[in-house]
Amino acid sequence: MSDTGFNFDQLVAVDLETTGLNAGTELIIEVGAVKFDQFGNEEVFSTLVNPNRQISDFISDLTGITNEELRSAPTFDDIREDLQIFLGSVPLVGHNVTFDISFLRAQGLSISDLYFDTWELGALVLPTAEKLNLRALAGVLNVDTGRSHRALDDAVTSKEIFLLLADQLKAMSDKDFSELALFVSRSGFSSPLAFLTPRKGETTSNLESYLELQARLGVIASKPQHETVAETPFPDALNEAWEIAAEQNLHIDNYHVRTSQQLMSHAVMDNLVSGGEVVVEAGTGTGKSLAYVLPAVLHSWMTGEQVVISTHTKNLQEQLIKDDIPAATALVEKLFSDQPKRFGHSFQMLKGRGNYLCLDRWYGSRGSQSRLDRNEALVLARIGLWLQGTQTGDKSELYLTSRDEKIWDTVSAEDSDCAARRCQYVQDGNCFVSRIRAQARSAHVIVVNHALLLASTSTGDQVIPEFQHLIIDEGHRLEDAATEYFGAEVSLRDAAEILKRLSRADRRKKKEHSVLEKIATSHRLNSDGYITLIDNLTKSAKLSSERLRELRTSLSNFLQDQQDDDSGNPPADLYVTKGMKVQNNWEQVQVSGTNMVTILNFLLSELDVLSNTLRSARGGIDELGELIAGLAREQVDLELLAGNIKRVLIDDSAEDIIWLARKEKDIRIRCAPLHPGEFLRRELFADKKSVLVTSATLRNSRLDGTQSFDFTLNQLGISDAETHYWPSAFDYQNNCLVLSFKDIPAPNAPGHVDQLHEAILECVIAAEGRTMVLFTSYASLKLATQALRGRLDAEGIRLQSQGLDGSADRLTQLLRNEENLVVFGTAAMWEGVDVPGPALSQVVMVRLPFPSPVDPIHSARSNEFDNPFIEYSLPKAILRFRQGFGRLIRGENDRGVFTILDSRFVNARYGNEFAGILPDTEMGNATIADAGNIIRGWLN
Ligand code: SF4
Repeated sequence: MSDTGFNFDQLVAVDLETTGLNAGTELIIEVGAVKFDQFGNEEVFSTLVNPNRQISDFISDLTGITNEELRSAPTFDDIREDLQIFLGSVPLVGHNVTFDISFLRAQGLSISDLYFDTWELGALVLPTAEKLNLRALAGVLNVDTGRSHRALDDAVTSKEIFLLLADQLKAMSDKDFSELALFVSRSGFSSPLAFLTPRKGETTSNLESYLELQARLGVIASKPQHETVAETPFPDALNEAWEIAAEQNLHIDNYHVRTSQQLMSHAVMDNLVSGGEVVVEAGTGTGKSLAYVLPAVLHSWMTGEQVVISTHTKNLQEQLIKDDIPAATALVEKLFSDQPKRFGHSFQMLKGRGNYLCLDRWYGSRGSQSRLDRNEALVLARIGLWLQGTQTGDKSELYLTSRDEKIWDTVSAEDSDCAARRCQYVQDGNCFVSRIRAQARSAHVIVVNHALLLASTSTGDQVIPEFQHLIIDEGHRLEDAATEYFGAEVSLRDAAEILKRLSRADRRKKKEHSVLEKIATSHRLNSDGYITLIDNLTKSAKLSSERLRELRTSLSNFLQDQQDDDSGNPPADLYVTKGMKVQNNWEQVQVSGTNMVTILNFLLSELDVLSNTLRSARGGIDELGELIAGLAREQVDLELLAGNIKRVLIDDSAEDIIWLARKEKDIRIRCAPLHPGEFLRRELFADKKSVLVTSATLRNSRLDGTQSFDFTLNQLGISDAETHYWPSAFDYQNNCLVLSFKDIPAPNAPGHVDQLHEAILECVIAAEGRTMVLFTSYASLKLATQALRGRLDAEGIRLQSQGLDGSADRLTQLLRNEENLVVFGTAAMWEGVDVPGPALSQVVMVRLPFPSPVDPIHSARSNEFDNPFIEYSLPKAILRFRQGFGRLIRGENDRGVFTILDSRFVNARYGNEFAGILPDTEMGNATIADAGNIIRGWLN
């Protein structure tokens, strides 16, 4: 029927239910299929299939299909012939249909190579959809889904979605449609586009497309001139703002006056006005984010000086943007309601360059003729369609899987060739990175994360405009962020890949992926001059590969001599100590490193010549842009490689911790700063007028039982900072029980693991789930999961383990929503998890969180102390312990048990230092036998 715009005869929408995910080992238990055509004719095939094996409870729960039903169903052998006749050679339609095709082929069926995946089609037509699973698409398109995870219902849903998406494709403007077709046609795969009536009209050229974009984006206004607000003293203005908050409850949910919040806000205002470094610990419930956001907005409003706020987590950034900054802005606007608005907008969130589309790379890619694979074509087509509407060029508006992200990286502004020339898109005012920077210049508050903040320190990102006032929340994570950012890594495997590309060693396999190959084969660049340049480059890259092999041999020889006491092998992470650095075979490593850097620098100079030659040949927006950008990426990679080898093997700075990490067949040479605080002080804090660092966990216990900020201040390199502490507003005395055990053997003692598992079981059952168990290693989490999943299940409690059943974010979401659930977590779940109310009534800490003694960074930093355990390991563990404890009480009315299964908390001398840093709570001792009654009694 011509109305549909389709020109196909028949399609079959199909869905299977199976015993598991692997087509090689699992079996089909239900088939649902609908054959349809463009005239509305339909034919259905639906049956259960007996797999001749038991299906798991999980599959049974998911599908509603029981083992009993399957026992009386036909086997696949019984239905094979009928199903093959039904499917014929008709193209299939389905959601993630390659999954179903793999199962059908595994059963010997002959299936058409042509298929239409509604996931792919949804991604094409709805590039900014938040989710693309079947139910989410059905919701967006208003399709009734019937019974979830039943084959025929899902097949029918896929068919409906397919037809509706095809209608949307058909309704697309010729321009949008041709933008999609532009990329899809370069891949050669059969897409739903192939079934639409071909459109008339030409694809827009790069220039036409760019002129349309330019007209749509418009000009970003520069920062308005700031006029000083009337002479109200800052503290008075702040007090007035709080009074308005108390009286009018402007945009602030559940706002009530909190003395500690107001005191903290005055400390922040003092810091902004007088300058210097201030560190504040504000316990949970003090309302600390509004306590720094309000003075930040107010001060910026009154002075025109911007404030940068940095957080570690995205959750906190979202809270600031959604709640605190709008609330503070409303208060300040109310306060100055008799004066005209005088300063741009209230805030701007900034992200790293890799989050924004680079127009230079985009138009290079769009104008290229190189062949694309299926996924590249789909992702680029979606970006093309999205670009018709975006104002920001920010990838968060797009749905991208981790596989898609790699394709995004080829057109993102990360590593773009901006600095080497005056980019046309900046001059025109359209480069998305420049636009976001311009917008940020007229905001009161700029919100960033720690990684971007640190990237703004030196050669880095330079996305953040220059600023004088800095507020860092989640300050307990700044040292780790600095360790990572100021560190370096050389992966021999990655280095070999870079050199392989440059030596064109893989040209037969991946012709389209090597930029040098593209230059070498470009019909526009086939003069003798280019051929000679590329031949020389190829030879230098091959020589570099030889030097890299010599470096690998030297490192292997060195590693062979460093044997672990127990296994006879070198440890997986080998800290290269001062003693090792005077050994002959380390000297050989350094010689190989020096040779490597020399040849890499030579290679870089040759790349530079080629790059300059290409630039002078380039005119306007054309295919050469893609080649120049590709070359720039190779240069960035190579410069980084040469610089990192120099740093880790030649410079030999006493300030760097060097270690060798072996993973699979790769050897990595890694380094991290010995004193990250030095870098922070020098690179981040030194040129700021005011710096405020805050968190709920910054203080530590001293040996004399008092508490202090000393450890944190030293780690952050600001030992002279002014400090403040405001305790949590919550009533721990009445709402929290800290329960410890004496009868569990200490870690590593005989019987520890079995007793530990028994204790976890008792505690979780007593709290009826509603528990998070925190482990210090993934190995012990896995062991406990294996031992306890079935036993908990028998008690009606579902266990979900981080990494095995889902990510930390997903499990946190489950904890909020499901009853009778226990979550086993490690690493990421020790902090940031926020589950208020009875859904999380117990936090179990399996072990006191001391850093691993074999961690190279920990070993090296420990050596800096006279008494490494007391002065370094213990304070580190106490800060982590406090973060774990902080997961429990998240609201005024929360009530819960903090259960510590490490008997060293009670038996070891240093146990008091952990106990001493906790707020006043009820403390109790339990045995495994009576723990259940104590927990039940307390919670009920
Ligand atoms: S300035 Fe840089 S990021 Fe912006 S379009 Fe040009 S090359 Fe891309």
